[in-house]
Amino acid sequence: MSAPYYELVRQLRQAFPQPTSDRVHDAYFAFSFLRALDELDALKSERPLLGEPIELDYDRARTERVPDASSTLEAVTGRLVDQFRGMFIWGHPRSQINVVPYPTIAAVIGGLLPAIYNPNLCSEESARRIAEAEVRAVAATADLIGYDPAEAGGVFTFGGTGTLLYGVKLGLEKAIPGLGRSGHRERAVLICSERAHYACDTVANWLGLGEDNVIRVPDDERNEIRPCLAHTMARDALRDGARIAAIVATVGTTDAFGLDDVAALDEVRRELADEFQLDPPPHLHADAVIGWAWSAFEGYDFEANPLGFRPRTVRALAGIHRRVRELSRADSVGIDFHKTGFAPYVSSLFLVRRQDEFRRIARPKSRTPYLFQTGVYHPGQYTLETTRAGNGPLAALANLWLLGRTGMRALLGHLVTMAEVLREHLEGHAATTVLNRANFGPVTLFRVYPDGVDTFVVPERERRDPAMRESLLQHNEYNRRIFELMQQEALRGEGVVISLTDCYRRTDYGEPIVALKSFITSPFADEQYVDAVLESLWRARARLAAE
Ligand SMILES: *Cc1c(COP(=O)(O)O)cnc(C)c1O
Repeated sequence: MSAPYYELVRQLRQAFPQPTSDRVHDAYFAFSFLRALDELDALKSERPLLGEPIELDYDRARTERVPDASSTLEAVTGRLVDQFRGMFIWGHPRSQINVVPYPTIAAVIGGLLPAIYNPNLCSEESARRIAEAEVRAVAATADLIGYDPAEAGGVFTFGGTGTLLYGVKLGLEKAIPGLGRSGHRERAVLICSERAHYACDTVANWLGLGEDNVIRVPDDERNEIRPCLAHTMARDALRDGARIAAIVATVGTTDAFGLDDVAALDEVRRELADEFQLDPPPHLHADAVIGWAWSAFEGYDFEANPLGFRPRTVRALAGIHRRVRELSRADSVGIDFHKTGFAPYVSSLFLVRRQDEFRRIARPKSRTPYLFQTGVYHPGQYTLETTRAGNGPLAALANLWLLGRTGMRALLGHLVTMAEVLREHLEGHAATTVLNRANFGPVTLFRVYPDGVDTFVVPERERRDPAMRESLLQHNEYNRRIFELMQQEALRGEGVVISLTDCYRRTDYGEPIVALKSFITSPFADEQYVDAVLESLWRARARLAAE
């Protein structure tokens, strides 16, 4: 008779994958997972969510305690599935919410396998060929965006924010060598556009630059940074004695898909380097977490158009590619496979044009006596993280292998086609205005107006004329109401879930412009669902008119 604890250990061993081959147990493992999938599947419907919409109950959640007794795998799985009730299905064709990807099965498997074997990308000692997989994903993506894969390097990290953190950190070490050891001595600034992601503020805050040292350069009608203003503002900062930690180009802004001109910003920093004798020149980081995927169109013959995209789509794709192809002029690039690469969270890649740049942030070997004893690949010497999971690189690699350039072109081209169909409809109606008309991409920002508003004149005047403040604010409210009505319908499985942005941008007199937002990321999107957006919009409008 063994001790009671040992009985329990014996039972619990069944809850682990078996370390040596055991086909029967493997079947149990796979079947347990299948059961969870089955239970999730039973929650699917016409609605773009699992099960019914639910009210979240945090009071109840806070009563959760660690139970005394152990449980069974079956019971736990059931409870895990239960937590998914009410979750959106991002890939549902009735979902156009945000830039959230719907992962491919290949990427899901790429994301899951490391969960079983726990490779640690800290170093090759603990990651083995998964370290190689990271190097593969880095090389393939570097080549995709136009870096020389023989020189380029990169690491997967904890999100788009993480990629930006790495970029600015490298830039800061370039601008003020040795700062990582000695701490801050001089003022350093981060230069980005007004449309750049708030991650710029986060990074400035966490790196100790200070958010007040984020210089936000005004953008133009296309939501692109104005390079000559960037030049002027950077020059002013340098004259004031500040260093430039980094210039951040946003290639694909979060709301509107604005694409900063990386080539122009590259010129700007070279001119600044000449003028102020900066060697190396200020670091240029491209926050391309959204836009990177369109690099797949490098080499696509837009004239011959072998994939047969519609003329409007070809024009949009060529418009995107024209900017995205300049990515390689940045010193480093942030890439989210979990934004436009159909990968599960988290799969973010920080790429640097020259791998040896990492030396600027490497730890001396004496600090890590317990690591890096053998082999050649030790990203843990320069990564912020110690443990890094293999899921990011494997999911990325899975999709690069699965889709190839052609598959990426087809999927992205389809999303853009659907967005263009929506735009065409919205532009064709007197009551609606597309706001990001000059941007091409899967996201459409638009506003709806009640009857009697002349949309040829009013939206433009609301943007410029302070006398229109009341009207602008009223229509902000109107769009919020429309959004609520559309949301209610969509959750019943009738309309389409879209989203709302509180501040697409500010008017010339400083008020926020509220916009409805359709971000098409589902490979299952089709024209009938674009029509469904419009139908739902007209119903919401009619209801407000009746009130
Ligand atoms: C989403 C986004 C980020 C942040 O990326 P996460 O992966 O969500 O951390 C940064 N920059 C841009 C432009 C983004 O759209």
